[in-house]
Amino acid sequence: MSKRANPMAVKAALTYDIFEAAKALDKSPATIRNWIKDGLPAMTSSKPYLISGADIRDYLRAKYQASKSPLAPDELRCLSCRAGRRPVDMSVVAYLNTPQTTRLHGVCVRCGGRASRIISNAKRDEFAQTFQIKSNANSDA
Ligand SMILES: [Zn+2]
Repeated sequence: MSKRANPMAVKAALTYDIFEAAKALDKSPATIRNWIKDGLPAMTSSKPYLISGADIRDYLRAKYQASKSPLAPDELRCLSCRAGRRPVDMSVVAYLNTPQTTRLHGVCVRCGGRASRIISNAKRDEFAQTFQIKSNANSDA
């Protein structure tokens, strides 16, 4: 496997197209497209797609953190705490992520920050027993 991209290689205040992001992070454009499919937020209403450096940083940190510490079944990953946290009232909003996956967003019970988790649609019923899931047809988070 290739080595991890350094989140600090992008500037939080800038936006990048896929090729600029690939170059900055020493990755292929295909990898960046995969990240977008995997949940990296991108402005896809017009081409070229634009990605904010801040979102790239958040995405990479969450991604690498996730591989270090798996979440408990009742936790989301809080971007501020950088840890698994329960959402306030166990309430989450579901956003369509890819045709196969859903993004759950909630508010971190510890710090009030944004917490999220990407789940397989196949497991959505299972998660619905743990979380109060509200649907949101709009995929913009
Ligand atoms: Zn938190």
